[in-house]
Amino acid sequence: MPVPMLTKQEWKEVGPLLRLDTERTKELRKEKGIGLKEALEELQSEACEKYYELTGFKETNWQAIWHHRLSEHGPECPSCGHLFRTPKASFCANCGYKK
Ligand SMILES: [Zn+2]
Repeated sequence: MPVPMLTKQEWKEVGPLLRLDTERTKELRKEKGIGLKEALEELQSEACEKYYELTGFKETNWQAIWHHRLSEHGPECPSCGHLFRTPKASFCANCGYKK
């Protein structure tokens, strides 16, 4: 299964959480004196949770979400007008309309 990309609208929710996770990772490292790798493993990522909530895809590495930003939208949904996640998407992430 390909990794779901986030729409502009979804990114507005996930982007700030990613920045928050970045800060929290830094704090965790300082607080516990651990390396980046351990800190990443220990952090309960808010961005990952939101990403899962939005896409249903379990991403464990929040840093990877930076790359899941949708750069190329699909066509508009004929049912609700929401943009398809990708040009190849077979259904609308907003209303569930199937092509
Ligand atoms: Zn739709």
